Amino acid sequence: ITEPDGKGIVEREVIRVVTPGTTFDEGILENKANNFVACVVKEGDRYGFSYADVTTGDFKSTEFENFKELESELAKVNPAECICDEELIPRINFGYKFPYNYSKDPEKTLKDYFEIKSLKIFGLEGKNFAVRAAGMLFEYLKDTQKTDLKHIQKISYYDVFEFMPLDKSCVRNLELFFTNRDSKKEGTLIWVIDNTSTPMGGRLIRNWILHPLLKKKDIEARLKKIDVLIKNSSLIRNLRDNLGELYDIERLISRLSLGTGNARDLNALKQSLEVVPKIKSCIKGKNIFAEVEADLYSLKNLVKIVGEAIVDEPSISVRDGGIIAPGYNKELDDLRSISTEGKSFIKNLQLREVKKTGINSLKVKFNKVFGYYIEISKANLSSVPDDYIRKQTLVNAERFITPELKEYEEKVLNAEERIKELEYELFYDVRMKVIEEIVKIQKTAKAIALLDVISTFAFNAEKYNYCKPEIFENGGIDIKNGRHPVIEKMTFTGEFVPNDCKIDKKREFLLITGPNMGGKSTYLRQIALTVLMAQIGSFVPAEKAGIGIVDRIFTRVGASDNLAEGESTFMVEMQEASFILNNATEKSLIILDEIGRGTSTYDGVSIAWAITEFIHDKIQAKTLFATHYHELIELSDRLSRSLNLCVAVRENEKEGVVFLYKVVEGGINKSYGIEVAKLAGLPVDAVSRARGVLKELEAKQIKKMRVSPDQMKLFEGKSRKHSELKVLKDLKKMDIDKLTPMEALQKLNDIKKKTES
Ligand code: ADP
Repeated sequence: ITEPDGKGIVEREVIRVVTPGTTFDEGILENKANNFVACVVKEGDRYGFSYADVTTGDFKSTEFENFKELESELAKVNPAECICDEELIPRINFGYKFPYNYSKDPEKTLKDYFEIKSLKIFGLEGKNFAVRAAGMLFEYLKDTQKTDLKHIQKISYYDVFEFMPLDKSCVRNLELFFTNRDSKKEGTLIWVIDNTSTPMGGRLIRNWILHPLLKKKDIEARLKKIDVLIKNSSLIRNLRDNLGELYDIERLISRLSLGTGNARDLNALKQSLEVVPKIKSCIKGKNIFAEVEADLYSLKNLVKIVGEAIVDEPSISVRDGGIIAPGYNKELDDLRSISTEGKSFIKNLQLREVKKTGINSLKVKFNKVFGYYIEISKANLSSVPDDYIRKQTLVNAERFITPELKEYEEKVLNAEERIKELEYELFYDVRMKVIEEIVKIQKTAKAIALLDVISTFAFNAEKYNYCKPEIFENGGIDIKNGRHPVIEKMTFTGEFVPNDCKIDKKREFLLITGPNMGGKSTYLRQIALTVLMAQIGSFVPAEKAGIGIVDRIFTRVGASDNLAEGESTFMVEMQEASFILNNATEKSLIILDEIGRGTSTYDGVSIAWAITEFIHDKIQAKTLFATHYHELIELSDRLSRSLNLCVAVRENEKEGVVFLYKVVEGGINKSYGIEVAKLAGLPVDAVSRARGVLKELEAKQIKKMRVSPDQMKLFEGKSRKHSELKVLKDLKKMDIDKLTPMEALQKLNDIKKKTES
C-alpha cells in the first residue's frame, strides 16, 4: 500500500480488531460502567457463560442448568457483544456467530496462557462448561487484540447463587438504572446513590446493586466499614477529596498493557499513584480496613521513574517524540543538542544569506519532500548567487539548495529521526516497567473502588439521613419512618411522608388499597428498595430498619407492554405472575402492584383472589400487594397472616379528596377514581355523569355477583365461606342491648337474605 505522504510502500497488517465488546473508544465507553464481551457455549440444556471487560482486565466465568438462568444473567451483565453457537443467535439478541469450533482445547488454552498446571486456583476445576466458555472467549480476545493480554491476570469462577438473583423485570420495575417510562438515569436508584468519586467506584457500585448479598456476615462486613467512617465526617470528606484526584487506573493499565496506551496514560497513572499514600493514611490504623490498606500500593519507584522519564505534557502520539524529559537519557540529550544547534545554524543561515544576496524576502523553509530549501521570489532571481542549486520552480518563486544547507539538514534530520526512535524505545521501557507491576496496580485499583463505594455509602448516609439497617439471617421486615430514596429526592410539592412497614410471621401478606395516585406504588417500591439497599450493604432511607434477609425480590408492577415481542399486556402480566408463583419461597419478598387489570373486572378479581390465596397459603412469602379491587379487602380479613392497609385520604365538601400518603391499617372500599379524574381536570359534566354511571353499575354488579358469576365458580368453596363469614361478622358487630324488637326482626331478615344469596 502506498502511503499518501510520499514515504513509499509501507507494509500494513491488522494490528487489532475493534469490536463492540472490545473497544477502547472513549466516545463509546461509559466512564462508570463496564463494557463487556461475553461468550455462551451450550450442550444439551447446559450452558457455559463467560464475560470479560478488556478495558479493565476483569474476566469471569460460570455455568447454568437452564436457559432461563442464563438469560437472567445475560440481562444483568448486559454485554455489548456476545459470541455464541449459531443455534443460540436467535435467542440471544446480541449474539455474534461463534467464531471457533470446539475442536480446540479451551482448558489447554487457559493453562498455557496462565502457565498453570490446574485451573483449581481460579475455582474452575471440574466446571467444564465454564472452562469451555472462558477458553473460547480467551481465544476470541487473543484474535481480536493480537497482543499479549497481560492485564488479564485471572479468571474468576462465580456462582450466581452466591448473590440474590435479580431478574430483568425487577431491575426494570424498581428503576435501578433506568426509569421505566423514558429510560433516563435521572429518577433511578443509581442516580441517587452513585456519588462515587472514581470510575472504578462507579463500576463497582453498579456491580453491587446487581449482586445483593445473601449472607449476614458479608452484608455486615460492609456496614461496619461504613460505620467506622460515619463517625468522622472530616475523614469522609478527606477520603473523597483524595479519591476525586484519581484517574481510571484500571483502564489506564489495561491500555498500557495492550500497547494502546501513550505517555499521557503513564503520567495519569503516576499522578494517581501519588495520591495513594494520602488515601492510605486516611484509613491507617483502622483494623477493619487492614485488608484494603494492604492492597493499596504506592509504587514509589514507578512514580519516580515515570516522573523522571516523561515530560509534563507529552505528545499524544508515541512515535513522534515530545515524550521524554531532558536529563533522563544522555544519548537523547546529545541528539537534541545536535538538532537544536543545527536548527539554529539554519536559522542564522537565512540572516547571513539575506545579507550576502541583498534579497530581503529570502526565506529558508522546510517540507517533507525536499527538506530544507531557500525560496526566492521571481522578482529577485537575478540576484541569486552561482552556488545555489535550483530544485523547483513555482509560479511566483524558485526553490534552491546549497551544499552547506544540505549538510546541516542531514544532521538535523538524522538527529530528529533518531530522537523519535529513541524516545519511543525509552517510553516502551518505562511502559514495560509499569506493566511488571500490573498485579499490584490492579489490586490497588480494586481496593480504591471498594473504598470509594464504602465512603460513598457513608457520604449518602450523612447527606440523605439514612440509617444503618439491622440485619437478620431470618425474620421479618420492620421499618420505621421509611422513605422512597428516589421520590424523596424528586421535586414535588410538599415533604415526603415517611411510612412504617412491619412484616412478620403474623402479618406476612399486606394488602394495600387506596385511590390512584394515593402513594401505593411508592410505598411498595420503597420497601423493596430499602431491602435491596440493605442487602448491598448500604444504609437505608429510614429512621430505623430491621431487615430479615430475603432470597429474592419479585416484582409485578404496572402494565408493562411487551408488544414489540408480540405479547399482549395481559399475557405479560400473567407470565410475570406465574413466574413469581413458581419461583418464590418463604424467604422471598413479593411486590405486586395491581394484578388482573388487563382483563375484565370479574376475571381480574378472580385471578387476584386466587393469587392472593396461593401466596398466602402455599408460598408464605413476605408480600405487599397493592390493588384497586376492594373486593379483596374481605378476603384479606379472612386470611390469618394477612393484613389490610390503605393509603389515607381526607375527603370533605370543601377540599374534595386530599392525599395524605400515610399508610394506615384497614381497607378503603372505595376507588376514588372519579375524584382523581376530577382533580385531573375532567369537565364537571363528565364527572357528574361518571358518578351516575358508577351508581348504576355498582347496583348491577352487586346483583350479578350474587347471582353466582361464572368466574367465581373457580372459588366456589371459598366464596360460600366468605358470605357466611360476612354474616358472622355482622352478628359480632351487633349490639343486642340497643336493638328494638322491630329492628331485631329486620336484621334477622337481612341475615337470612344474605345467606340465601
Ligand atoms: P399509586 O400507586 O397509589 O397510584 P403512587 O405511588 O404512584 O400512587 O404515587 C403518586 C405520587 O404521589 C408520587 O409520584 C409522588 O409524587 C406522590 N407520593 C407518593 N407517596 C408519597 C409520600 N409518601 N409522600 C409524599 N408524596 C408521595
